[in-house]
Amino acid sequence: MSLYAQVIVDVPTMQTNKPYTYLVPSELEEQIQAGMRCVVPFGKGSRKIQGFVLDVSNQKPDENFEIKKIISLMDFAPVLNEEALQLADWMANYTFSFKISCLQTMLPNVMRAGYEKSIRLLDENVEPEIKKLFDQNNLLAFDDKMDAKIRRKIYGLRKKDKVEIVYHVNDRARVKETEFIKSKITAENISAFLNAQRKTATKKKRMLEKLLDLGNDPVERIKFQKQNSFTSNDVKQAENSGWLSLVSKETYRNPSENSTIESSSPRKLTPEQNVCVTRINQAIEQEESDVFLLQGVTGSGKTEVYLQTIAHALKLSKKALMLVPEISLTPQMVRRVKGRFGPKVAMLHSALSDGERFDEWRRIERGEAQVVVGARSAVFAPLDRIGIIIMDEEHETSYKQDEMPRYNAREVAIWRGKHHHCPVVLGSATPSLESRARGQKSVYQRLLLTKRINGRPMPHVELVDMREALKSAPSPDFSAELLTKIKEHLKRDEQVVLMLNRRGYSSFVMCRECGFVLKCPNCDISLTLHMDTHSMKCHYCGHEESIPRICPSCRSNKIRYYGTGTQKVEEQLHELLPNARVLRMDVDTTRRKGAHERFLERFSRHEADILLGTQMIAKGLDFSDVTLVGVLNADTALGLPDFRSSEKTFQLLTQVSGRAGRADKNGEVVIQTFNKEHYAIQLACTQEYERFYAYEMQLRHRLGYPPYYFTIKITASYDNEADACRKMYEIRRELSQVLSKSAKILGPTPKAIMRVNNRYYYQIVIEYKKEPRLEEYLQDLLVRSQTDEPKGLKLIIDRDPISFM
Ligand code: ADP
Ligand code: ZN
Ligand code: ZN
Repeated sequence: MSLYAQVIVDVPTMQTNKPYTYLVPSELEEQIQAGMRCVVPFGKGSRKIQGFVLDVSNQKPDENFEIKKIISLMDFAPVLNEEALQLADWMANYTFSFKISCLQTMLPNVMRAGYEKSIRLLDENVEPEIKKLFDQNNLLAFDDKMDAKIRRKIYGLRKKDKVEIVYHVNDRARVKETEFIKSKITAENISAFLNAQRKTATKKKRMLEKLLDLGNDPVERIKFQKQNSFTSNDVKQAENSGWLSLVSKETYRNPSENSTIESSSPRKLTPEQNVCVTRINQAIEQEESDVFLLQGVTGSGKTEVYLQTIAHALKLSKKALMLVPEISLTPQMVRRVKGRFGPKVAMLHSALSDGERFDEWRRIERGEAQVVVGARSAVFAPLDRIGIIIMDEEHETSYKQDEMPRYNAREVAIWRGKHHHCPVVLGSATPSLESRARGQKSVYQRLLLTKRINGRPMPHVELVDMREALKSAPSPDFSAELLTKIKEHLKRDEQVVLMLNRRGYSSFVMCRECGFVLKCPNCDISLTLHMDTHSMKCHYCGHEESIPRICPSCRSNKIRYYGTGTQKVEEQLHELLPNARVLRMDVDTTRRKGAHERFLERFSRHEADILLGTQMIAKGLDFSDVTLVGVLNADTALGLPDFRSSEKTFQLLTQVSGRAGRADKNGEVVIQTFNKEHYAIQLACTQEYERFYAYEMQLRHRLGYPPYYFTIKITASYDNEADACRKMYEIRRELSQVLSKSAKILGPTPKAIMRVNNRYYYQIVIEYKKEPRLEEYLQDLLVRSQTDEPKGLKLIIDRDPISFM
């Protein structure tokens, strides 16, 4: 009876969303398993492409055309387990993505890209016929052309752990090799060697003694040389004399090898922390997949709650997954977790090289790491027996991927929590409105930390009204108030953090006299500046008007594109405070690997007085000498044409204020703003999250935005505007047939930057509560976009979009 495999194929030009059936050749029958990668012929020319085996069965498909054969398998063991395959299924559906992109997203880069493989012989005790295939390094190139008989034999050897697969990926992701020394000197043979030496050959005698000391344990060559002051040549000579052998062994790259990490022990919990830890631990023990929303003001000790619940999971022989926003931005967090759990921890984040990522992935997959800390894609870490999943700063928008698959790590975490029957903890000082609202309805369980550790007071926050301040300001970006404060703190030898909120740089227009931002008459949302058409447009309803020359509110002519750069501010600082040592940290200065961490280390050693940076400095820093935080421009996010602009402003200002006065010194915060009365700014000052939540929810309710409504954004692009526009009107017509009266269809409108790379983008936003036919329609639309419209249409369907721009 023949075997058939269901295979998802990787076709870059035309994505296919359904599996194809292939015949499994008899020589592969024994080896093939779901979750392996394979090579299959596809299409008219039977081109060889990569595929993923989803399922294997005896079921003969009832299709009557010829069934092609699998050419070869790329793996000896599945690279995706049963959970991963199920998750990919769910994710493809939920995020309107192609299956293949979901499967590939779960694997480290090096396993997605093209690569070469070889087989390494681990045990030389094999048939001579097989042994002679391997080169002197015990390697054998492994490719599609390999003889089927040999392949079968090697498969048998792998089962007995006599061979293993090594991946070579375009040089950059090789398995790291380290040279080891194996001594051949024993108590029996040493005297013969010693006697053969001349009296003056002291170094050689010493070598013999050291080799004797080694016994049977191989030692790293570099270490051996260093510890005993031997040169590389000494070792070479010893090898030539037959005193030792050199062997290469696979080792892991260690991403934090060079930073020393202090170990930390659990702290005695505060009563509030204790309540949280007890509740979460209970859920771990009882294997309940509850979602907890841990809402704790900045400095209330959320991290200690994470660490102690992770410790509890480990005690029960379970594992832990901890997600943090773009981890390279929070080296301090990594240090705290590594300090507690040491070598049990694996890290996955974008600052690692592909090779390091690959090694960390394999450590997790082999069960050698029990705690995984990582950014967004770490949510796919191949952990089994998960006992707890933690997501720090759950409101961060970087948890949503903005290319296919457009998943939010929060949803994936909750899915995995259900799969593993374990709790998920979402932590934040400023939860997203969606999560907070779910807490209200007890979909999530709220846990509160209302007090700062050691009763430290909240920092004192002062708002500076820039409309007034600019009249007498010493420079365009510094009010006299802020400058005076900076001088005071520097005089006391304390440190200052200055944040420039660069988001939305010059994409909107604001009056510098009165703070007025142009809004849409229909939507209560800011208009976006379009330089290509020299007009202001609304992204919700398509309203358009010309760019004002004078302010419609105060008639002043000081209306301009708003925005300023860190570089410009740095120059101003040098003029105003020539003696201050300034460290500028933004995307330009931190592009190099590890630069971010080095900057922060320098700052923590007090090698600079002022840290000037963009949003990236707002998160997770905990410096004892920082007593003043200044926000140069609080308003930029408010001007964005985005219903979340107030929420984002509130979150950012609350986070950054929390940076001041974390240790025993009291902190101060100065916020410069053109919108002093705005509720987001006022409530961030007093750190009143609950009041902000209540106020913002009213607005969202009135305007029909999330979390009261679900949203889906559809974007179509073509290489010409007419087709993009025509397609979107067609979709709108179809939608109006599918949707009920209670749903809203906004658009089509051109996107903020309509033309990118000579493609034209149009979008539609759907706001709805319950639309039973919508899912099916959109899935169908996605498939049709591949088949009916081959002439260059690109269609994007984005559930819960982060922004409508
Ligand atoms: P959050 O993440 O809520 O902003 P952190 O976890 O950074 O707060 O905690 C703030 C500070 O309090 C840290 O320096 C941390 O080491 C310390 N801390 C946390 N819990 C305790 C505790 N139970 N006892 C003493 N210090 C604590
Ligand atoms: Zn004005
Ligand atoms: Zn509008």
